[in-house]
Amino acid sequence: MHPPHIREHALKLRAQGVSFGQICKTLGLSRNTVGHWFYGDRARRRAELDALPSRCPRCAKPPRAPNDQESYAYLLGLYLGDGHLVTAARVPVLRVFCADAWPGLIDECAAAMLAVNARSVQRVQKQGCVGVQSYSRHWPCLLPQHGPGHKHRRPIYLASWQIPIVDRHPGQLLRGLFHSDGCRVTNRIRRGHRSYEYPRYNFSNESHDIMRLCQESLDRLDVSWRMCRPNMLSVARREAVARLDEFVGPKW
Ligand SMILES: [Zn+2]
Repeated sequence: MHPPHIREHALKLRAQGVSFGQICKTLGLSRNTVGHWFYGDRARRRAELDALPSRCPRCAKPPRAPNDQESYAYLLGLYLGDGHLVTAARVPVLRVFCADAWPGLIDECAAAMLAVNARSVQRVQKQGCVGVQSYSRHWPCLLPQHGPGHKHRRPIYLASWQIPIVDRHPGQLLRGLFHSDGCRVTNRIRRGHRSYEYPRYNFSNESHDIMRLCQESLDRLDVSWRMCRPNMLSVARREAVARLDEFVGPKW
């Protein structure tokens, strides 16, 4: 405990406009002590949080892969498909927009963020969709594909530690990609009196690099695909759709 007059001295210096660092130095006090006097518990909680060992696997020494690799592969797919990582904010924010029509996807996206890194996830209602978002200093460590501008305007390649995860969980990466930038549609065709249904998957993305990641993961699962447009891939053969259904399935 410090005698009350020291605390009063510190508050007086603060009122005179002396800087925080200078006050600590002048009175020979720790930043924690002075911070507690000035800002109360807020500063103490912050200092405690900063002192905790990082939960971020990439900041661990030595760095390691995320614990829940299936959730990671899924989240990576969501991010590469249609996610945004804003690093200009004071604390970086990861945001994925999910259509209102698919509440299951909203929950699954939030669960993946929590499993990989987030302490909390916010759902921000917009017109017709929900922005699922999480603030963390460590999203840029976990999603090193972030950068200024659109993803299709810059090269997108996996970091060496991400490659084995995607190799092991191609189905989860595809699930994320198709959930964010793809769809499963049903074509109905009438022949005479009978009608036939052909389910198919489409994935559209302007980035050739992201399209290549999608193609490679499909190849790994022996799912045949073709490009129906330069920016759109289609999975239409019956056995290919059945195989992809094991990992992706209809949106929900
Ligand atoms: Zn980190």
